[in-house]
Amino acid sequence: MKIGVLALQGAFAEHIELLKKLKVDAVPVRLPRQLEGLDGLIIPGGESTTITKLMANYNLAHKINELAREGFPIFGTCAGMIVIASGVANGKITPIGVMAIKVKRNAFGRQVDSFETELSIPVLGKKPFPGVFIRAPLIESVGRGVEVLAKLADGTIVAARQGKLLVCAFHPELTDDLRFHRYFLDIISGKR
Ligand code: GLN
Repeated sequence: MKIGVLALQGAFAEHIELLKKLKVDAVPVRLPRQLEGLDGLIIPGGESTTITKLMANYNLAHKINELAREGFPIFGTCAGMIVIASGVANGKITPIGVMAIKVKRNAFGRQVDSFETELSIPVLGKKPFPGVFIRAPLIESVGRGVEVLAKLADGTIVAARQGKLLVCAFHPELTDDLRFHRYFLDIISGKR
C-alpha cells in the first residue's frame, strides 16, 4: 500500500513516521503528479489558512477535490479536517468541501487552547484513545451519510467518517497509538 501525506505545511513528518511503523510506503506530496498511484492521502494538522492557500497555488485543491468525489480515501487530522469540510463557521477560508461536515476553527477557548484527554472511540475497541488537541477545531454538525466516531464528554463531535473520508479534530500522529491510522488503512482496503 502506498499512502501520500500532503507536505505543504504542518505535522506531515509525524504522519510519515507513523505510517512507516505500520509498514506502509509513505510519501510526501507537494505536486499534483505525486497524487498518481496512491491508495490514499493524509492531510495533516497545521494552519488550515496556509494549507488551503498553498493547495490552491500548487494546483492541488482541484485535483484532490476531483479524486475525493471519485471515492479516493482521505484522512484529515485537525487542520486537515478543516480543509476537506464542506463548511467552516469562522475564519476566511475556502475548504475543498468534499465531506458533509460543518466545522468551527480554534473552537476551544484560551484556557483549554490545547489539552489531552482519553477518548472513547468504539470502532477502535474498548481501550481509550489518547486525544491530543492543539488549537483544535470541532465538528458543529454532520450531514447525510456521515458516521460520528468520537465525542467529548460534553457531546462535542471530534471524529467522523463518510465513506472513505475520515477526519478527527485531534492528532493521532503525535501518539504511539497506531489504531486510528490502522483504521484508515482498513477503510482503504475495504475491511472496514
Ligand atoms: N488552529 C488550526 C487551524 O485552524 C488547526 C490547528 C492544528 O492543526 N493543530 O487551522
